[in-house]
Amino acid sequence: MLVYNTLTRKKEEFKPINPPNVTMYVCGPTVYDYFHIGNARSFIMADIIRRHLIFKEYNVTFVMNLTDIDDKIINKSIEEKIDSSKVSQKYVASFFEDIEKLKIKKADVYPKATEHMDEIISLIKNLEEKKLAYNSDGNLFFRVKEFKNYGLLSGKNTDDLELGSRVEVNEQKENPLDFSLWKKAKAGEPYWDSPWGKGRPGWHTECSAMSVKHLGKTIDIHAGGNDLIFPHHENEIAQSEGCFESKFVNYWMHFGFLNFQDEKMSKSLGNFFTARDILKKYSAEAIRLFFCQTHYSGPLAFSEELIASSEKGLEKISNFVEFINSKSSYGESEGVECSFDFDFFLSRFVTAMDDDFNTPQAVAAIFNFIKSANKYAVENPKLNSDFFVKAGEFIQKTAGDVLGIADFKQTNKIDQTLSHDLVNLLIEIRQKAKVEKNYSLADEIRDKLNSFGISLKDSKEGTTFKIS
Ligand code: AMP
Ligand code: ZN
Repeated sequence: MLVYNTLTRKKEEFKPINPPNVTMYVCGPTVYDYFHIGNARSFIMADIIRRHLIFKEYNVTFVMNLTDIDDKIINKSIEEKIDSSKVSQKYVASFFEDIEKLKIKKADVYPKATEHMDEIISLIKNLEEKKLAYNSDGNLFFRVKEFKNYGLLSGKNTDDLELGSRVEVNEQKENPLDFSLWKKAKAGEPYWDSPWGKGRPGWHTECSAMSVKHLGKTIDIHAGGNDLIFPHHENEIAQSEGCFESKFVNYWMHFGFLNFQDEKMSKSLGNFFTARDILKKYSAEAIRLFFCQTHYSGPLAFSEELIASSEKGLEKISNFVEFINSKSSYGESEGVECSFDFDFFLSRFVTAMDDDFNTPQAVAAIFNFIKSANKYAVENPKLNSDFFVKAGEFIQKTAGDVLGIADFKQTNKIDQTLSHDLVNLLIEIRQKAKVEKNYSLADEIRDKLNSFGISLKDSKEGTTFKIS
């Protein structure tokens, strides 16, 4: 399996540290508002990468942090005149609601910054002891010039960076490149006690502290949007490798931006739609398919037309699922043995996903499969159920388990709910027939249902049914 590594700028063979285990850390949201559909692109692509690794029989431990203390949260709490913890609680809850609607698998752990103060403080203390951090009136900064690999991930050179940041005046810093590890509390701000006085952690520090706590010093994959390469991930490397003196991450993966009006969709520019608003108009599957049609690393322009046309594409999958569902309930042994080459189509899908998670090609493999399988079924009308069972398994594995754009089990569930509703409707009609003394119709309904294997039981409380 090949994975593009931002650090080495090339596709590399994926070799986990401790196979079949894989450790994966993805930078999660700052919980001060509903997340937008641009954030959703990063969350969904991370979910698909994880799902494919699971499909490849890796045992993935997936961690996504929740930044629950930050300037933006504090500003919101001032704006809304509520405690900052109330702001983060509200948006943590909305985050979980929205990712569930987007069919994103839950992480194994969602560590919160506010619940890892001891780990964060001990990381900063370690850096201070190594002279990689300094205290400036209760504010702690990382001494960038002391970390020789600074700039490797983003390809930035510290001299150029220094030139670029000369304008920034911060009397507390020794060098404008130095970044904040711990911020001294200002009046009225939430704070935690520390060896340097009351304050709160810097954003970068939480990820280094929580990654090592939950996944160990060196992890397999660390991912996030392109905007996080610099400074966030560059700073994480400096902190973690400075502190633990071992390689922090083997594969750095970054997601391209979802753009709108030719710019990165972002809260600050105001050019965004919340994921929950988009979900009011389109299904999660259509949103996911829209994202899958572009490689995760490239830019993508937000387009409602394309999401709407994804909805049409999904119809092809659901029509096919309906078709195989209607056939697979037939008797096993009747009909003709199938010679359809499922492995050929599955290997096309897997080859695409194995090549740095090439979802556009993987999607094409699914649609090609549907086209060929449909044609095969039309040309071979007397197929036995084996073909339909295998076709169902193909869709479940590829479109279902890996891409999350179809849910075969869910379709079965819908079919079940529908048949229950229909039986209940017939029971109601039978009840009405009895009230109207139309006993022959009432009996006919009972007998017909019986012939389908559905038996009715009348009691004082009403009529119930059992499917045999
Ligand atoms: P934030 O809450 O801003 O820290 O963002 C959460 C995640 O969404 C991070 O991985 C960001 O890199 C990612 N992200 C933010 N904006 C976009 C965008 N327009 N397109 C894709 N990913 C984004
Ligand atoms: Zn992070």
